[in-house]
Amino acid sequence: MQFKELKLNKPIIRALSEKDYSAPTLVQERAIPAILAKKDIIVSAQTGTGKTAAYALPILQLLFDKQDAPKKGKKIRTLIVCPTRELAIQIEENFEAYGKYTNLRTGVIFGGASIQPQKDMLKKGIDILVATPGRLLDLHKQDVVNLDYIETLVLDEADLMLDMGFIDDVKKIERLCPDGKQVLLFSATMPYKVEHLANSILRDPEFVEVSPTSSAAKGVNQMLYYVPKPKKIELCLHLLRNNIKGSVIIFRRTKYGVDKLEKTLLKNNYKVASIHGDKAQPLRQVALNEFKKGEAKILIATDVAARGIDIKNVDTVINFDIPNVSETYVHRVGRTARAGASGMALSFCSADEKGYIKDIQQLINTVIHVEEEHPYPLDPKAKPIVHKKKGSKYKKGRKSEASKKKKKRWY
Ligand code: AMP
Repeated sequence: MQFKELKLNKPIIRALSEKDYSAPTLVQERAIPAILAKKDIIVSAQTGTGKTAAYALPILQLLFDKQDAPKKGKKIRTLIVCPTRELAIQIEENFEAYGKYTNLRTGVIFGGASIQPQKDMLKKGIDILVATPGRLLDLHKQDVVNLDYIETLVLDEADLMLDMGFIDDVKKIERLCPDGKQVLLFSATMPYKVEHLANSILRDPEFVEVSPTSSAAKGVNQMLYYVPKPKKIELCLHLLRNNIKGSVIIFRRTKYGVDKLEKTLLKNNYKVASIHGDKAQPLRQVALNEFKKGEAKILIATDVAARGIDIKNVDTVINFDIPNVSETYVHRVGRTARAGASGMALSFCSADEKGYIKDIQQLINTVIHVEEEHPYPLDPKAKPIVHKKKGSKYKKGRKSEASKKKKKRWY
């Protein structure tokens, strides 16, 4: 299929050809016609599938077809809500690029950054606003953001927004937008709570599903290293010295873990960049740019900070800690081997993490190859720990507010 067949108009096609996009991706093929027909849709797609353009292109087209308001009179007609600052910036950049030959204006607001420039930008007038929930509600309360003219609301990475505790904010934002708006919900996974949210705010939605989370990216060479926890750092250094070439993302579960590993790698003369939720926004952006430009070949990140960020040409993903949620493994591994390229995913598993591997293998329906030839093997007698699964008969009661807060703190 060609973009022309999707009936996109000239300024958009021109921008796409400059980006060297020859044909729409699967999610674009399916979502664009539905969005142009003003339908509500639920899209289950991971980053890397071209999902941002899948909503950005038809939204630009719909706005372009009905515009010509002078700059001063511009009203926000499309709102995109997403969970993280990095993702918000990236979405805005996508809209700018695809809308280059339209006179539509996009703005972005997110927390952790100075509020005044964002207010100034809003006052100038924009057509499309990309926002994280907290800052959006803050600026709405201050009467700087007017949501009365929203025609299309996009909830991107809905599952992550709910995981991060934004459910009430998202519902509130939806209520602040006019009735009858078009709602587009994008989510990498479709857990019950996302379905529940979708049922409560979308009208007769169309479903689009591409590459379910249970399928790990094709072309990724996945390898498992059993290693004692204290030896993980040595294994990491060993592999970086001897086996790994090109760009690497190393995932850790905690912010503390990211900082610790960064210090060790710096001491060993590696140029590294790192991102996690405690880093100030400008620092996160600097780190990301360093990695994208290739100035730092290694990026160390927590999952939340890295989710949704489009980083091209990652050769290797290292799971320094095995994720305790199996879907997270698939997201991490999906950072490499994007767009048909091949890549490696190396997972370091200590005795206490063996149970997670079992769950992951079940989810991806694949037995991950165990690499036994390395200098720090795990004692085979080391006992695995049985992890209690979500939704099992061991399920605990509701989490207290304090424990929820605590959970939010470590990524
Ligand atoms: P996303 O899933 O939105 O994060 O997009 C992943 C990457 O695919 C981004 O770098 C996009 O620029 C790129 N992309 C999106 N659509 C296409 C397309 N039709 N052809 C080639 N690349 C694309």
